[in-house]
Amino acid sequence: MKSAKTVLREYLKNKGMLHSKQREQILDIFLKTERHLTIDDLYGLIRKKNPRIGLATVYRAMSTICDASLAREIDFEDGVKRFEHKYQHQHHHHLVCLKCGRAIEIVSPEIEKFQQRLAKKHGFTPVKDTMKIFGICRQCQRKTK
Ligand SMILES: [Zn+2]
Ligand SMILES: [Zn+2]
Repeated sequence: MKSAKTVLREYLKNKGMLHSKQREQILDIFLKTERHLTIDDLYGLIRKKNPRIGLATVYRAMSTICDASLAREIDFEDGVKRFEHKYQHQHHHHLVCLKCGRAIEIVSPEIEKFQQRLAKKHGFTPVKDTMKIFGICRQCQRKTK
């Protein structure tokens, strides 16, 4: 398996884009954090390492990192865009808590099979899919009891 850095470098080379040290630093910090990160979360982490990197640079870098298929954007319908790892990660779905915002990841071959069946039945070619179930997580249910 190629490293994420190699994937990014190859992507940039193919696109005729210049390799940038800041972008690689952003990728590093993003990959080290196994969470669903908003751009502000990420910017906060990056500033701790390199205060010279601006928010606009983080935005641009994440958009390139997504285009290179290393990250993907997810939307938990709370008005904030989040990023998660895509490279070398299994396709998964989310259970999203409406109280604390936690997103539990679900990897399920049954769901994938079901989706394939569904698409086939409708002669549909899926491009991307994501399933989200909104509700209240176990911890938050405990707190309200
Ligand atoms: Zn919760
Ligand atoms: Zn996820």
